[in-house]
Amino acid sequence: MTLHVQHHISDELLLDYATGNLTEGWSIAVATHLALCPTCRDRLSFMEHTGGQLLEAVDENDSVATSANSWAAMKTKLSSEGSSRASAAKPVATPADVPVLPEPLRSYLGGDVEVLKWKALGRGAYHIPIKTGDSESQVRLLKIPAGKPVPEHSHGGRELTLVLKGAFTDGATVFKRGDIEEADETLTHQPVATPDEDCICLAVTDAPLKFKSLLVRLVQPVLGI
Ligand SMILES: [Zn+2]
Repeated sequence: MTLHVQHHISDELLLDYATGNLTEGWSIAVATHLALCPTCRDRLSFMEHTGGQLLEAVDENDSVATSANSWAAMKTKLSSEGSSRASAAKPVATPADVPVLPEPLRSYLGGDVEVLKWKALGRGAYHIPIKTGDSESQVRLLKIPAGKPVPEHSHGGRELTLVLKGAFTDGATVFKRGDIEEADETLTHQPVATPDEDCICLAVTDAPLKFKSLLVRLVQPVLGI
């Protein structure tokens, strides 16, 4: 079976990863997508290569505006490179060759799916919170029963969902193994596992701030939200 990843990491996120500006939680999702996606591995090496050249080209007299222009030029170049690559009919390694949980995710969980100790979330769904040293994000593995929506789903802040097994739909879009969905507070969405099998995915969200959630809890009854 040949699987091709359809939904990739955005330029912004991949650049943050390439430049070391992502915290651990978000990096796990990006790195795990990279393990499943030869296209994004190519994009990453192109960014690293171009980034190195840019750094060499920037001298100390460069203004911030010039750097911003270079950055814009780089992104333009990236998108044209990306499209030419996408149309090239070269064979790529398929995600089917990789274990269900690729590295670096597998190390965080101590093995592949057969060793996992799922915790019930209710309504047939399970999760495993993943401990990281990153207080800015919340990382967990989710198992969503076939045909059911993702439970305990918050719509605030940034969110990355990477499919590892099965698939989910969000509106008219299908996300399969290796596909990553980036969402933020501007996107109203509701992922639902496809009816054929349970869906296992990695979900990274902004860590809830305690005082914030407490405040929200306090004002919720008043505002009726
Ligand atoms: Zn990709």
